[in-house]
Amino acid sequence: RGYQNVALVIGVTGIVGNSLAEILPLSDTPGGRWKVYGVARRPRPSWNEDHPVEYIQCDITDPQDSQTKLSVLTDVTHIFYVCWASRPTEAENCEVNGSMLRNVLTAVIPNAPNLRHVSLQTGGKHYKGSFESFGKIKYHEPPYTEDMPRLDTNNFYYTLEDVLFEETAKKEGVSWSVHRPLIIFGFSPYSMMNILGTLSVYAAICKHEGLPLRFPGTKLAWENYYMASDADLIAEQHIWAAVDPNAKNEAFNCSNGDVFRWKQLWTVLAEQFEIEEYGFDEEGPRLKLSELMKDKGPVWDEIVEKYQLQPNKLEQVAEWWFADLSLGGTGFTDSMNKSKEHGFFGFRNTKNSVINWIEKTRAYKVVP
Ligand code: NAD
Repeated sequence: RGYQNVALVIGVTGIVGNSLAEILPLSDTPGGRWKVYGVARRPRPSWNEDHPVEYIQCDITDPQDSQTKLSVLTDVTHIFYVCWASRPTEAENCEVNGSMLRNVLTAVIPNAPNLRHVSLQTGGKHYKGSFESFGKIKYHEPPYTEDMPRLDTNNFYYTLEDVLFEETAKKEGVSWSVHRPLIIFGFSPYSMMNILGTLSVYAAICKHEGLPLRFPGTKLAWENYYMASDADLIAEQHIWAAVDPNAKNEAFNCSNGDVFRWKQLWTVLAEQFEIEEYGFDEEGPRLKLSELMKDKGPVWDEIVEKYQLQPNKLEQVAEWWFADLSLGGTGFTDSMNKSKEHGFFGFRNTKNSVINWIEKTRAYKVVP
């Protein structure tokens, strides 16, 4: 009824899924009016409930559950795949993530006659290698460009692309696009990799305990240039690629278009949480949040109670492993030239992006 297009967002409670769920239904979104289905593994969380999305709880690692719940969505015109599962080894990541995408595509493609496009999100590890291979293989030198060849190593992003190419080729008229963000700044208490959410929790604990906000990373990470990808910007690029013929069957980097240094963002984080003493400690061994924060569960419970926050446990809102990895490397940058040459001109001011997402995380009472 009055819909121009019908989106199926896989991973609708994730860091980009939540942005898609917010942006797709807006009246001025390209390709609109959109009807939106959203799939995630767990029951719908309260912070996702405001979005006008038909929520489907489905475990896409399960082929039967995927068939039952997704093959009936016969009006879908576009799939946005912003989902992943983490396994101990990259070989297992390839196997599980490949079959998750295949479960979705084999349930939807044969049953949705008007399906036109599948938009897949991968990321910068396409160029720098999987987490498992960090420090072990020679990777591409940044700034990354989309024409850099695949690295000669296991990578679940390559598996996802191959499944995408294979399954979309089975039906005429179905195009694809691949989106490769760098580190994502966004909002989702359910995300497996939410750096700003994690650092906000760290800052809240430091504030509560009267501790300085020490940078838990390497000197290289403190000093070097990085680029980030705002979750709303990525959602906008997915939607652009879904409706613009210039974007068909192409892969695109997606980053904010400016560079930052963690030393600058650290000031922003400290200001947001009103911490006066902060910085990088040149002396001593490298700090790791997984060490520093390992006994802070009870402190977090106190903070939740004191500020009447959502009743999350510390391990639900902080991915210390991800912060330790992200703040341990050298800087990563990519090029947005291809995206711009094909007609996507979106950008974000990274400092403003950080402030916006921290404010949103606060507004939803995830942090004080
Ligand atoms: P996320 O962890 O924020 O969200 C994942 C979503 O998928 C959630 O909605 C979750 O419910 C859903 N999901 C997970 N397993 C499921 C299952 N079995 N069945 C149904 N739904 C399931 O995801 P993300 O970080 O946006 O990751 C998407 C892609 O982006 C991944 O390939 C990731 O590597 C890549 N990426 C992420 C970042 C980042 O900083 N988060 C940076 C670059 C690239």
